[in-house]
Amino acid sequence: MKKIVVIGSGISGMTCACALANKGYDVTVLEKHSVAGGYCQSFSRKGFRFAAAVHRIGGIHGRNSVDGILSALGVKELPEWYTFHENVQVGDINFNMCNSSAADSLRELFPEDKEDIDRFEAEVDRINSILDIIDKGANAGISKFSLTDLKVLDKYRKMSVDQFLRGIFTNEKIISLLVAISDAMPGGALFAFIRMVSFANCGEETYQPVGGAGAIIDLLRKRIEELGGRVLLNSPAERIIMENGRAVGVVCKGEILRADYIVSNCDLGFTIRELVGEENVPQRVLEKINTKFTESPSCFSVWIGLDKDIKSLGYEPKNISYYPDAMSVLDDKAKLIGEHSVQRENDFLLISLSANNDPTACPEGKGQMMLGMLVNWDFEDMYKLRDTDRKLYREKKKAAAMNLVRKAERFFPGISEHIEVMEIASPVTFQRYTGNSKGAFGGYKCTPELVENFSLLDCRQLVDGLFLTGHWGGVGDGVIFTTDVAMRVADKILRCDHIEEIYDFSKNHSA
Ligand SMILES: Cc1cc2nc3c(=O)[nH]c(=O)nc-3n(C[C@H](O)[C@H](O)[C@H](O)COP(=O)(O)OP(=O)(O)OC[C@H]3O[C@@H](n4cnc5c(N)ncnc54)[C@H](O)[C@@H]3O)c2cc1C
Repeated sequence: MKKIVVIGSGISGMTCACALANKGYDVTVLEKHSVAGGYCQSFSRKGFRFAAAVHRIGGIHGRNSVDGILSALGVKELPEWYTFHENVQVGDINFNMCNSSAADSLRELFPEDKEDIDRFEAEVDRINSILDIIDKGANAGISKFSLTDLKVLDKYRKMSVDQFLRGIFTNEKIISLLVAISDAMPGGALFAFIRMVSFANCGEETYQPVGGAGAIIDLLRKRIEELGGRVLLNSPAERIIMENGRAVGVVCKGEILRADYIVSNCDLGFTIRELVGEENVPQRVLEKINTKFTESPSCFSVWIGLDKDIKSLGYEPKNISYYPDAMSVLDDKAKLIGEHSVQRENDFLLISLSANNDPTACPEGKGQMMLGMLVNWDFEDMYKLRDTDRKLYREKKKAAAMNLVRKAERFFPGISEHIEVMEIASPVTFQRYTGNSKGAFGGYKCTPELVENFSLLDCRQLVDGLFLTGHWGGVGDGVIFTTDVAMRVADKILRCDHIEEIYDFSKNHSA
């Protein structure tokens, strides 16, 4: 029986481990933390269970693809799901993500810009259908690919979201709305935006498993163990053993676990510098990684336990992505995650009340709220204070959290009077618990340069015998994307062993 060691028990590491165990491999997952799941884990305070990061599994495709993967891996009992609405508030425009397509809603809101919106829709459809053919490869009939398609690809390959939108629209409000509903990053790669904006219509409702995303991790763990595999907590990988240019084992707690294949689910920089050793990675790959690849932004999150049930306070358990100024979302976002990250009045705020629909999240008669904003590693310079002046660090963190609460009061007046518990996380906290460099919420910053150079990270070019999975193993993030990467990595390993029956999940996923 061939041996696999997976480093990291994030959703992607666990999915990959389970997929390989299901094909008869002997699988060991090493997790440095005392809890499995990475960004999918929850934590408890005074009877409240808070989702550490993942608060929704997006849209119609989300639930289906998680259930689909679990079923393909032989998991009998699927998660129980609850539903809720997603709203985007841009200035005074409220956009319900669960109603209709982005283009239809825009035509309704801005009839005078119909021509631009039609052109936008046509271009998005065109790029999407080309990306679909590439993505699904031979399964979708690559022969359909034409020379015109190649020209379109070449035109858009190096383009950023900003350039694309400003090339079509003059109405800044439309640009703001599109950036908000697709959660696009200023300077971000156009191709990633195209996928997101097509996904923006999330169906009638959005989903999350009862018990949080950690419930999926529990099901995967149970299945791995049923198949004879193991998930070892408090077991950090310290080093990867290299022999003749090939990764052949992992050192953990001073012991060597030999393996036929190793899968790293953890931070790319850590994998290269601490586990593999820079000296074992080809120089030209290292140079590109050091110059072209950067981390995605991080988050500043505040979890609040409320002394009252949210419905009894008159509020609906939904999520709101709030951008105060409809004329400047792209610029405000650029400032927020730019060189030096500080809070400003126009900053984006995520207000998540969706967990109130989960019967396991709050004590009887109580409610909860999560507030979050995108920030850089150097947000309010907290990372410096943490090691030099703990008191000031805590004060700054609390003040930043109260600023978010004040902003949330615009939607939920009086909510601050009901705070019973409050927990705060800065990028330093996210880095500490998951090992993601600078607390990156989604692996790499998805720029056109990254898209251009990512094929460099094909496992055989990094080092033989080592595969990368998760949001450092592909250009994208989130549960749906990283489980898809995991299935592709499992397929790569199966192909290496000439196993004909692969999963071939790429053709099933549309987001
Ligand atoms: C605040 C926030 C909110 C988010 N919200 C959503 C959302 O609502 N929906 C969504 O789909 N996505 C969301 N995301 C993104 C999503 O959480 C991630 O893209 C995804 O969960 C990444 O999964 P992963 O398996 O790639 O890695 P991770 O979850 O980062 O897991 C990596 C694992 O590796 C372990 N590890 C690291 N080093 C070692 C080592 N040396 N030895 C052993 N183990 C190690 C870590 O402890 C961790 O368990 C959010 C992210 C953040 C930060």
